[in-house]
Order: sequence, then C-alpha cells, then structure tokens
Amino acid sequence: MLVLVLNSGSSSIKYQVREVPDGASVDGSPDTGEVITSGLIERIGQAEVPDHQRALDLLTHRLDDELGGRTLDAVGHRVVHGGERFSGPVRITNEITRAIERLSPLAPLHNPAAVLGIRAISHSLPDLPQVAVFDTAFHRTLPEHAWRYALPDSLYTEHGVRRYGFHGTSHDLVTGEAAAFLGIERSSFAAVIAHLGNGASVTAIKDGVSVDTSMGYTPLEGLVMGTRSGDVDPSVITQLIVRGTYTAEQMDRLLNKESGLKGLAGESDMRAVAEAAEDGDRYAELALDVASYRLAKYVGAYHVAVGGTQAVVFTAGIGENAAGFRARVVDRLGALGITLDAAANEARSRDARRISGEDSAIPVLVVPTDEERAIAEATAALVRI
Ligand code: AMP
Repeated sequence: MLVLVLNSGSSSIKYQVREVPDGASVDGSPDTGEVITSGLIERIGQAEVPDHQRALDLLTHRLDDELGGRTLDAVGHRVVHGGERFSGPVRITNEITRAIERLSPLAPLHNPAAVLGIRAISHSLPDLPQVAVFDTAFHRTLPEHAWRYALPDSLYTEHGVRRYGFHGTSHDLVTGEAAAFLGIERSSFAAVIAHLGNGASVTAIKDGVSVDTSMGYTPLEGLVMGTRSGDVDPSVITQLIVRGTYTAEQMDRLLNKESGLKGLAGESDMRAVAEAAEDGDRYAELALDVASYRLAKYVGAYHVAVGGTQAVVFTAGIGENAAGFRARVVDRLGALGITLDAAANEARSRDARRISGEDSAIPVLVVPTDEERAIAEATAALVRI
C-alpha cells in the first residue's frame, strides 16, 4: 500500500511516500517497507507558495512525476496534539478535523497547520482515505498521579492544564523494537526510553505502556533540549515578568528558542556543542554536563516509576549518533549497576544494538526511531480495516 506521510508545519510541509508491505506491524516486522520519495515544501505563506492548498497542489504535481504513474492509497498526518480525546490513530472525517481544530489552543503552532494540510488534501484528493496519528496518544495511559500538576482543580477542568506528553509515536515504536530485541513480551516490558533529538523527552514504560513522560502540558518541560530549557523553577518566569524584565512573549521566546544547549553553550546542535567541548570550551562542557545530569536524574526517577527497568534505551538524532553524550549519561548511572561497553558505544550502526557492558545490571540499548514508518504503518492498518 502506498502511503503519503505528511508533517505539516505553519510554514513548511515535510513529506514521505512509503510502500507499506502487507502484514507489517508497528511491533517490529522485519519488512519495514520502502521509502519511495521524500522531501520538504518550504516558505509557505510567501509569494510562490501563498498557502497550504498551493503547497499541496505543488506536492501532488511533484508526486505525479516521482511516482511514475502509481497512485496513493492513503495519507497519514502527524498531528501534535490529540488532547484527552485521542488515544490512538483515527480515520479522518469532518468531525475529526473539527476536533483537531478545537485542540488548537493546546498546540497553537502545530494543530492549525495539520488542519490546513488535512483540508487541502480533502479538497484536492477527496476520495483518498486520511488518518491522523497523534504525538500525545501514546501517553493516554499515564496514571492520574503522573499527569496531574499540584494545582487547583479548575486549572485542569477549565483550562485543560495537565501533563499530555509528546513524541508518543517514537516512544511507542522504540518500546516495541526494544522489547523484541531483548526477547521480552511487550506486555510485560518495563523500560526507560530517551528520545533525544532537537526536542527531547524521556518516557517510563511499564507493561509495555507509557506511565510517565518528561514533557508536560507543552513540549517545554523536562530535559535540556536544543533551544528549550526543560525544567525550571516557575518563579523564574513569574518574577522576571512581574519585575518587567521580560514581557510574557519575550519569556516564551527565551524558554523555547534561546535556552537549552543554545542558552548554555551558544549552539543548539549537539554536534557543534560536542566539538566545542572537545576543543576545551568551558560553556560547551557545562552544557553537556547539565544535559547529561538532567537525563540521568530522570532515568533514576523512572527506574523507580516502573518498579525496576529492564532496559535504558537511546533513540533519535542525539540518542542514535552522539556516542560521547551517551557515555556521559551512562557514566552517571553506576548506582543502578549499569556499565558501558565503550567499544560498542563508539561503533556506528543503523541497527538496534546493546552498548552496555557484559556485567551491566540493566541493558542499555540504542534503537533507531522512524516516526514516518510508524505513521505509515498505522495509516495502512486503519485503511485496511
Ligand atoms: P533529530 O531532531 O532527531 O533529527 O536530532 C537532531 C540532533 O541530533 C541535533 O542536535 C544533531 O546535532 C544531533 N546529531 C545528529 N547526528 C549526530 C552525530 N553524528 N553526532 C552528534 N549529534 C548528532
């Protein structure tokens, strides 16, 4: 089945067309399908591509050339926020589109763009089945003690303030792959999964499902990220606004775009930070220390949350590639009896692999993620029903 995977942002659309083989499952089918084509349509809103409809028209023309006469069977949309309603992928109808639109206050940059993408497809290819796959859905299994903030109930009931969690598609896929790698039934698998990309989050997995995750009401909470601060004392924010040092808008920008690795080291990209640290840059070294310490602290906490983890798993751009950063994190986990196999950690591979020492009390794995593949497979599975 030929599936177009769309990740619609406010000014760009990332796409990938995949052949999903019959019977492929999200839980680690060996046949992961083929990427037929992929790309990016940028500068939506500017002169050449004034809106999402025009971007989709451009894309369908491009695909007519690239697919050599083959036609698409379905579209899978990455949708950032599914709120409390969506606990898994759904076939898109007008009602579902409106529901995604109503969740826009929770993801003001992302959900409106997804809705524009969905409507543009409905307009140009009205007969094509569409599926929404939500970043938050995998975390709908969080128990209330994990998703509640210690705030008055009205914040939750009137404003929807709670932990939602993100990167769910990746955490879900990687959980299945890690369980399969270790030969453990997913339904009895306990793990700590660290998705470390430009955005980063760590999830506690118990009995194969998410029971806690570091991102919260928005993707700002938790780990040190490329440009996001992760955890800070909320008084830092209120005090600086009350004193008039920052406006609320400036503070939002500071925390989301100017903090994290960028705030600490002046660079948001892990490669640049690691290189600067190698060259003796004190602030780059500090950034790696703060980020690895924060993650190790979460691993310890989630080891407790899941009643003893069976694996610590690294994934995404940094998790899969930044051996030096992984070593810094694992070095901090000695109290859990975890050791590193330095050679295995340095070895480059695109496959799932173990990087912990023979004597490690808990295996440490690197498991590549592939959100597009997961979205394509979830889409195909729903469309085949
Ligand atoms: P993602 O958002 O998953 O694409 O991850 C992006 C992050 O992965 C950036 O911080 C990159 O610097 C980092 N990254 C990608 N490749 C490498 C590499 N070979 N070594 C270190 N960091 C890397």
